Amino acid sequence: MTHEGSPLTIGVLALQGDFREHLHVVSSLGEKAVTVRRAAELDEIDGLIIPGGESSVMDKLSRTFELAEPLKAAIASGLPVYGTCAGLIMLADRILDGMAGQQTLGGLDVSVRRNAFGSQRDSFEEDLDVPVLDGEPVHAVFIRAPVVDEVGPLASPLGTLADGRVVAVEQGNLLGTSFHPEMTHDYRFHEYFVEKVRARRA
Ligand code: GLN
Repeated sequence: MTHEGSPLTIGVLALQGDFREHLHVVSSLGEKAVTVRRAAELDEIDGLIIPGGESSVMDKLSRTFELAEPLKAAIASGLPVYGTCAGLIMLADRILDGMAGQQTLGGLDVSVRRNAFGSQRDSFEEDLDVPVLDGEPVHAVFIRAPVVDEVGPLASPLGTLADGRVVAVEQGNLLGTSFHPEMTHDYRFHEYFVEKVRARRA
């Protein structure tokens, strides 16, 4: 990796879910990885990753710890945020098949359907063509994954399954994937996100 200037500080929301894997990926890309559990920690980061886990639990904890409103404000002010799986649900403006009363932080002009593959196809892997990433297809790991049912005019699809369903999206500084790159050795989505963070800091 080549670095322009000092390493970035990338926070990983560590309320619940597979945040440790993301911390490891960020460090292996040569950036500084820190956990985020309190609102004050948002002031110290250049970008944020919201991990996979269980979005309804993450939603509840983020409100209990008084993080939800500061997170919404940070997103609105342009903080780059990458959400994987449950993290994508947290970033969606609209949620389908959510738990009763489940809220999201929003930011991405998309409708995301939770657990879209049902119990028949709880977890699976598929190779995706992602035009914004150079090289071979992305080997994507899906675990009780959501899909993007509707992409609004402000967001853009980045990757689809063979059946055409959208599983990766971006909108300005926000990036979301239904799948878990942190569980593979292909970190191009994280690199793509780090580029967004570096561009914003510059
Ligand atoms: N099904 C979970 C949810 O609704 C997401 C699963 C995951 O993050 N791997 O939040």
